[in-house]
Amino acid sequence: MKQTDSPAREDRELSLSQRPIRLRAHHLLCLQAYRGRGYSPRFVLGMNRVSKALREDPRRMIEISSGCDDLCQNCPHRREGEDGRHVCRDDQKVLGFDRAVLELSGFSEGDTKPYQDVIFRLNTALTPDRLKEICGSCSWYETAACAEKICRSE
Ligand code: SF4
Repeated sequence: MKQTDSPAREDRELSLSQRPIRLRAHHLLCLQAYRGRGYSPRFVLGMNRVSKALREDPRRMIEISSGCDDLCQNCPHRREGEDGRHVCRDDQKVLGFDRAVLELSGFSEGDTKPYQDVIFRLNTALTPDRLKEICGSCSWYETAACAEKICRSE
């Protein structure tokens, strides 16, 4: 069904209920480096809402996913896959990022935990070298200065 662009509908789609926020694993890194730039105005609006919710309530529950999440839903690169489920335009590449973050952190797809606990465990395992291995091929890695923002203490 074709979507309308009415502001009311857009607002409903972008709003966050009290359910756990669904985040694919590599977005746990993207969110930490995010400073208001993104793929489209709608994508930025969605990122702003999620990052604000997590900043205001770091105990907010998140569900770790592999595959499209609450940030992808506003992204112009999200596509409908052959089975009708949504996928990223660059699915193989970003699924590799997700796998690498899961492996590093020890979390599994479906884990549901407070955001601050997830970030603590992930960042404890993270080094600048590991970050570069995981994210070095991402177009944002240099332009968004991810290493400086995520590995501030190094
Ligand atoms: S659809 Fe792809 S490019 Fe867009 S936010 Fe999701 S993983 Fe990133």
